[in-house]
Amino acid sequence: MHCPYCRHTDTRVLDSRVAEDGTSIRRRRSCPQCEKRFTTVEQMQLTVVKRSGATEPFSREKVIAGARKACKGRPVTDDDLARIGSQVEDSLRGSGWAEVPAHEVGLAILGPLRELDEVAYLRFASVYRAFESADDFEAEIAMLRAERSPTGEEPDLTAAAGAAPPDVPTKQAPSG
Ligand SMILES: [Zn+2]
Repeated sequence: MHCPYCRHTDTRVLDSRVAEDGTSIRRRRSCPQCEKRFTTVEQMQLTVVKRSGATEPFSREKVIAGARKACKGRPVTDDDLARIGSQVEDSLRGSGWAEVPAHEVGLAILGPLRELDEVAYLRFASVYRAFESADDFEAEIAMLRAERSPTGEEPDLTAAAGAAPPDVPTKQAPSG
């Protein structure tokens, strides 16, 4: 490993620590030439196995692109999408496996997407779980309603089928 300050070709490891979740190792290093210190993180290479059997390195960008597609027209920011990417990566790495089937990646997206935006969740779930009819949507929506806390606001789920009406903030009707 080259020194990131002076490009010296050798560095010394001062200390190695396994991260709390056990999925990475941090090494504190020092450069014998310029004596600066820096930290490296060693992580397992996460591989996605597609249905065809082909493998590819896990890509957080692909996860974000998939979520972004489902969130089209929804009040979701780039930060929200980046957070989903990192949550999905964390949960897959947390499983401790070097290889994950592609469908597990889809499954890992569903949870955080549901927290973020229920319409986007329904869109993603409809593709991922191959919804075939309006009944499938109804069943999923019924489940969402059943699991929602009684104090929660009713979300606008009518946009799930695609033709999204513009979001209008709820206004209090003037009294009197
Ligand atoms: Zn150096």
